[in-house]
Amino acid sequence: MAVTIKDIYPICTAPEGIPLVIVKVVTSEPGLYGIGCATYTQRWITVANAVTNYMKPLLVGKDVTRIEDIWQMSMVSAYWRNGPVLNNAISGVDEALWDIKGKMANMPVYDLLGGKVREAARVYRHADGRTLEEVGDRVQAFMEDGVQVVRIQHGGYGGNAYQQALESMRPEGACAGAYYDPLGYQLSVTKLFEYIRNRFGFNVELCHDVHEHLDPIEAVRLAKELEPYRLFFYEDSLAPEQIEWFEIMRKQTHTPIAMGELFNNPREITPLIANKLIDFIRCHVSQIGGITPAKKLASFCEAFSVRTAWHGPGDTSPVGHAADIHLDVSSWNFGIQEWAGFKQASLDVFPGCPELKKGYVYPNDKPGLGIDIDEELAKKFPCSEKLPTWTNCRRPDGTLNRP
Ligand code: MG
Repeated sequence: MAVTIKDIYPICTAPEGIPLVIVKVVTSEPGLYGIGCATYTQRWITVANAVTNYMKPLLVGKDVTRIEDIWQMSMVSAYWRNGPVLNNAISGVDEALWDIKGKMANMPVYDLLGGKVREAARVYRHADGRTLEEVGDRVQAFMEDGVQVVRIQHGGYGGNAYQQALESMRPEGACAGAYYDPLGYQLSVTKLFEYIRNRFGFNVELCHDVHEHLDPIEAVRLAKELEPYRLFFYEDSLAPEQIEWFEIMRKQTHTPIAMGELFNNPREITPLIANKLIDFIRCHVSQIGGITPAKKLASFCEAFSVRTAWHGPGDTSPVGHAADIHLDVSSWNFGIQEWAGFKQASLDVFPGCPELKKGYVYPNDKPGLGIDIDEELAKKFPCSEKLPTWTNCRRPDGTLNRP
């Protein structure tokens, strides 16, 4: 007799102060369940409602083994599709179903995806600081831990170290916000790379995330100016609304380009890959709908020599990180994995977190995703309903910028 879906519910928790949404799928088989990441931290309440009010009524009673059909049906059930809220809700169920299938097969998910092509996923870590020395000291600490690739930012996105100077540049009555100065930012990035290369030579690989802060032609210029420092990749230099500019950027610079954490719709992604305009795809796996579409996207990228670098900040849950690692170790064209790291509270709430050792993250070999959630402990870390403020990014004259 088929094992069917008996219940689906969201678990909202914030062990590190960042709201996370986990979906639990309970089956008709006693004790058999799966969990998946549905974290869209800025709209977590809406995702949780979508899971409870739409995914559960749609899917209770369905055969748990039919992952592909369930994914396709969930995607078109609302007729309008490819938005961040519903894609995350679908991901929560999708990853939980892969977890369940692995437990039924007594295999880790990476085995279901074709098996390991490497033992562990090489990661990059984040180093930022208000001064060049501070960034350098963090890079050094990572290097001493065996990390080979580091993303460097001077004062966070948009170089917020310039906040103070900017106050005098604002017009009277300017809105509050996360202010930054496009020119000051660009000059500081070049100086930072010069400083880090002078201090460490080429003994460490470096990335930088522009976070769509620049006008397109400025993003092209910065990519060219950074060429002597040989970046591992140059990330989110353009907004998804400006992807036509990648063709211009490609013709101008050999700096490797990474893009994709803000993409929802496959049509945003495919032209960049098929026209070989990027080097790394950076989608947020839950944002595109889970393991099912991510595996297909990885395979599509392989045909065009584009490598994967799945988005992995603190607002990817440990369950989402586990899903990423299963994809990483089983995808030939894996490039690198972003790794924010876990604090003790996350390790306690999520037994079985993937483990970081000397710059590599290892999946465990338990069946399924190999990670669980302590629901009682999760309740001790309630999510806050505060809206994010960092997305309210502004230029010196007060104009709203893309975050
Ligand atoms: Mg990014």
